[in-house]
This record gives sequence, structure tokens and C-alpha cells, in this order.
Amino acid sequence: MITIASGKGGTGKTTVASCLAMSARQTVQFLDCDVEEPNAHIFLKPRLTREEAVSQDIPNVDRNKCSFCGQCAEICMFNALAVLADEVLTFPELCHSCGGCWTLCPEKAITTTRREIGLIKSGSAENIHFTQGELQVGTATSPPIIKAMKETIQKNSLVIIDAPPGTSCPVVETMEGSDFVLLVTEPTAMGLNDLAIALQVVRVLDIPCGVIINRGTDVYSKVETFCRENNLPVLMKIAVDRAIAEAYAMGIPAVEAKPELREDFRKVLNHIKGVTAGERTCCH
Ligand code: SF4
Ligand code: SF4
Repeated sequence: MITIASGKGGTGKTTVASCLAMSARQTVQFLDCDVEEPNAHIFLKPRLTREEAVSQDIPNVDRNKCSFCGQCAEICMFNALAVLADEVLTFPELCHSCGGCWTLCPEKAITTTRREIGLIKSGSAENIHFTQGELQVGTATSPPIIKAMKETIQKNSLVIIDAPPGTSCPVVETMEGSDFVLLVTEPTAMGLNDLAIALQVVRVLDIPCGVIINRGTDVYSKVETFCRENNLPVLMKIAVDRAIAEAYAMGIPAVEAKPELREDFRKVLNHIKGVTAGERTCCH
């Protein structure tokens, strides 16, 4: 299971994930876990044939049993409850379904009800079994959708996951259990800053990782220096290329615009397979 991640958006993470999947010489299970704005389907063009709702438990307060003690609001880390003198307000869109409030309530005044938070859509495109999550607009909790998507993973298949950008809970949920994390960055000061943060997350999770530098130029070399100093292998550099940029603008993956890139992506896959099989060492 390979997760493609980046400390920030716009580095080309989805481009890399899609190109890796399209270059593999085997069947791939592709999960677009960037559930706030899934867009790998634009490159991979799957035929989506199934749709499933994802829901979670949220609190439902029985005013007749409630003593308005305030304990539920105190324990809620997400401000999803507010206790007034004679009312308990709930904000379902903020609830992370941790269960703290209904477990703690001394009056057993809280029951649960289900709330739909998003969808999982799936289908296929050539050698790719494709799944994408979609978080409902205005909902703050994407990890349950990501968790539900990962439950569809089939053992012993090559799984490529497009993670959300950044380094918060949804990214950690996506990375957990991965055999390898591929960090995509760009050779800019911001790219370096966010790569350094993403690397901290990967190291806390203790997952082998490597880097792809996208839109590479010789103008800014600090990313490569950083990778060297941190024992972080640079597995591929994708040069700035007008043909790739024009193809991207039209929703065409880089490996279709420049078919010779497929071999480079296959080398990256082989390297990762070597690391996960214990044949090569890699950064932790
Ligand atoms: S913990 Fe239970 S009794 Fe106390 S305010 Fe919340 S719902 Fe009411
Ligand atoms: S389930 Fe957890 S997150 Fe949701 S309202 Fe209760 S304490 Fe807050």
C-alpha cells in the first residue's frame, strides 16, 4: 500500500498518483482519499458504477432527562455541544463521533442518531479499480470516510492512495498502515517548508518514504540538499515541461503527454517494491 502525500496542495500529488497507477504493469486499487476535493477521476476517467453513503453517530439529547450539568460540553474537544441554562445545543457538523458525551452523561440523557457525512463512489478504468470519497459540504470530519474507503482494500493487491494535502488528521488516517509514503514536493521555499513538516508526520508513523520533486528546475536546490541531509531518497525528478502543463490543463495525465515517463514511474514502483520487500533500505 503506497500513499502519495504532500505537505501542501498544488505540488502535483494527484498527477504522480495517477501516473504511477497508469504505469503499473498489474491491476491497481486506487483510492482517492482527498475527500474534500477528489479529482483523480479527471485523469483516470473511471466509469463509476457504485455509490454508498457514509454516516456516523451523533448525539441526540433528551431534554427531559438532562440536568444541564455541562459535562458533555466540557469533554467535547470539537465544540459540538453547548449547554445553556435550560437547553443543550448540538452542532452535528462539528461532531467527530468520539462517543465521549454519551459515555459520560450522568443522566443517560444522550442517545445517538446517524448522520450522513459523505459518499464513496467506485468503478474502474482499464487496470485500475477506482474508489473516491466525497465529504459532504459543510462537514468537518473526513476520517470516517477515509476509514470506510480503506476497509475496501483487498489483501495482496497493489494499492495506490492519493492522500489529502497537508498534515492534519485526515492525512494521518490515510497514511496509517501504509507500506510506503511517497512525498511529492516542488523546488521552492514553500515546497521545502511543507516537505519538512510532512516528513515529521511520516517519521512519527515510522513508515518508509521517498520523494518526487515535481516541476524541477536548477533555480532552487535546497530541497535536494534537505533530502540528502535527512537521508530521504529522491526517487524521481519531473522537469518543468510545457507539454505536461498543457496536458494537465486539459485533464490529460503526464504519462499520456510524455509516454516515456511511464518507464520512470515504473522504476519508482520497483524501488518501492524493493523497499517493502526488504531488498533495499530506505529512510524511516
Ligand atoms: S452531560 Fe448529560 S445531563 Fe449533563 S448537560 Fe450533557 S446531556 Fe445534560
Ligand atoms: S461524540 Fe464526541 S465529538 Fe461528538 S459531540 Fe459528543 S463529545 Fe463531541
